[in-house]
Amino acid sequence: MKDITKNDILNNIPLVCRPDVPREVKAGNVKIGGEGLVIMAGPCTVEGREQIHEIAHAVKESGANMLRGGVFKPLTFPYGDPLAQPDADLGLPAVDRTIVLSPEEAWVAAERRYGFLRDAGDKYGLAVVSEILRADHVKKMEPYVDMFQVGYRHMFNMDLILALCETEKPVLLKRHYGESLRSLLGVCEHFEVRGKRNFAVCERGVSVPHTHNVDSRAVLDIQAIPAMREYAPTVPVIIDPSHATFKRSYVAAMSRAAIAAGGDGLLIEVHADPENAWVDPLQALGFAAFGELMGEMRAIGKVLGRTL
Ligand code: PEP
Ligand code: MN
Repeated sequence: MKDITKNDILNNIPLVCRPDVPREVKAGNVKIGGEGLVIMAGPCTVEGREQIHEIAHAVKESGANMLRGGVFKPLTFPYGDPLAQPDADLGLPAVDRTIVLSPEEAWVAAERRYGFLRDAGDKYGLAVVSEILRADHVKKMEPYVDMFQVGYRHMFNMDLILALCETEKPVLLKRHYGESLRSLLGVCEHFEVRGKRNFAVCERGVSVPHTHNVDSRAVLDIQAIPAMREYAPTVPVIIDPSHATFKRSYVAAMSRAAIAAGGDGLLIEVHADPENAWVDPLQALGFAAFGELMGEMRAIGKVLGRTL
């Protein structure tokens, strides 16, 4: 894998690397990058109205400024799509996990859950971020989100990247665990060359031979934070210790390290009943652990002149 060269900065990624052209990345009222730390918190997947309202209330109380909830999930295997399940608050039994929805059926279910997510964000004054999987969803999702997340699987989905150049809303671009910073900045340059400058990048770990953890395939790349500052100093860097570690008991330590290393914010999975989260139950934090972490973030931020 190649590292970033002088030639890259001159010829391949000159726009994203400019140190002197200010960049404004704003999701709703939340400024991303700069003095204030940005905490995006919420469940891996929106399970129902009550669930997302309860989580939004709790994370707001603890100091989060954005609500993050997945609706369309990029599933590794085709079984157990959350969109095929009845909303949790209906109290209905789970349906056959082998059900595969058509795109039309999936959108109907998704739009209902985006509605829950949007309402919860509005009620608690949290900007909303959610993952997008398809280019033809940009306009459909726009009313429901303040920021589009591009997951690691879609980092090179050029249909999606180009479609996102057509929205005014900002993008959170995750780096694939097998890809270099150079490639990530290449994708950013595709935004830049089309005049889209309101994006942030997200670190969610890199692939290594071993991870200290049988369930994980990634180790959080803390060094990417100063490297981004060096090469593309105006691009905000958000850290996702939840997906990087895949392990609840590692999330707080990696969050502390990420903010201490100069990260602009965190993406943290939070759930009222973490062990029973529909998706990613190994890594979500409960409300008490999240509250404690936010206290630590305030303390670390203070030392570094950053507010929360
Ligand atoms: C997620 O944020 O829920 C997610 C699936 O992320 P990633 O693309 O990093 O796996
Ligand atoms: Mn998840």
